[in-house]
Amino acid sequence: MTGKSHGPSLKAKPIDLKHCQVCMGKAVVMGVFHELPCTACHASGWVSADTGEALPPEVLVTQLGLLLNIYQQRLIANSQALSKAWGAERNYQDGNRLGAGGTNYTGD
Ligand SMILES: [Zn+2]
Repeated sequence: MTGKSHGPSLKAKPIDLKHCQVCMGKAVVMGVFHELPCTACHASGWVSADTGEALPPEVLVTQLGLLLNIYQQRLIANSQALSKAWGAERNYQDGNRLGAGGTNYTGD
């Protein structure tokens, strides 16, 4: 038994993407008078990291959606970690109010 499944997978698997070299990930290129959609990456700014070529639009949309989800979750996790760190920092400072700048008056 190989356990291999045939046919197209219905599961969306993340594909490694990299910035399009033609538009430098900006999704547009400078035309004669104005910016034009970059044709090398379907105006997404992203291409396959493996082949360096644009993904088919229907695949690209899914990949960008997946990436967006991943980054959104990372952002949320980061901001939660950050606010936790800030809270810890504040508590620490509240409990340790005495600074090093106390006067040391020797009144002679
Ligand atoms: Zn491009």
